[in-house]
Amino acid sequence: RTVYVNGEYLPETEAKVSIFDRGFLMADGVYEVTSVLDGKLIDFDGHAVRLQRSLDELEMQSPISKEDLLEVHRELVRLNGVEEGMIYLQITRGAPDDRDFVFPDPETTAPTIVLFTQNKPGLADNPAAKKGMKVISIEDIRWGRRDIKTVQLLYPSMGKMMAKKAGADDAWMIQDGFVTEGTSNNAYIVKGNKIITRAKSNDILHGITRAAVLRFAEEAQMEVEERNFTIDEAREADEAFITSASTFVMPVVEIDGAKLGDGVPGRVAPRLREIYLDESRKAAI
Ligand code: PLP
Repeated sequence: RTVYVNGEYLPETEAKVSIFDRGFLMADGVYEVTSVLDGKLIDFDGHAVRLQRSLDELEMQSPISKEDLLEVHRELVRLNGVEEGMIYLQITRGAPDDRDFVFPDPETTAPTIVLFTQNKPGLADNPAAKKGMKVISIEDIRWGRRDIKTVQLLYPSMGKMMAKKAGADDAWMIQDGFVTEGTSNNAYIVKGNKIITRAKSNDILHGITRAAVLRFAEEAQMEVEERNFTIDEAREADEAFITSASTFVMPVVEIDGAKLGDGVPGRVAPRLREIYLDESRKAAI
């Protein structure tokens, strides 16, 4: 695989970053994951805008312009022959001379930027979307700025492991009795023709797929309600689903071991998945 590190395209075995990099020592960095379908980028603009917001919130400077970032994404897709898959992008505050809690001077310490591709043939045709996924619920003990897409992913990773040990696919996190989101996705329930999802705040990541799906839902005359919901309300919902750049729209058919309805995907989530895939493919660049 050819990867991109600080301005260079290199074989992955030759790519290097410093042991003093603050991403490595302090999780002082942000990331984005953009999906690729038909060799084209899905929602690139949304990811680029959110990246800039994450950087701004952490007072970090971008080492690259949006135009150049698009070129790097396209070049990596080309070099690695990606038809379906993902591009991972990470920017950290760079590697000062020594470990220090104080941010380094941006004049002397440049950010570190890394991009690599993940080839995932069959991403759009994922059989898991036909079957639906199982989630468990766990307490949300992450920090209070989940709207910033930082590389601090230890608790979400532990949550995923808890799900795996319980025979499930993912964990929905609960704060003050209400579902925040999945370990790496936004969470939704469906009641009748109404799609319910938590409103945007510092408590959740503002999903790029979420924004697109809610827009498509409204265009298709489905009702959208942005509000908190409890895990009990979710267990009694007609349907549930998640969204993210790497899973698009994925039905949830079981919560904490209890089947939702008949335990198979319903009407709304599969339809939204289809609309999302169709529309995103058309708009891909
Ligand atoms: N919520 C969390 C915690 C995530 O990590 C992600 C994606 O990685 C999402 C939601 C979904 O965001 P997007 O649709 O932009 O991939």
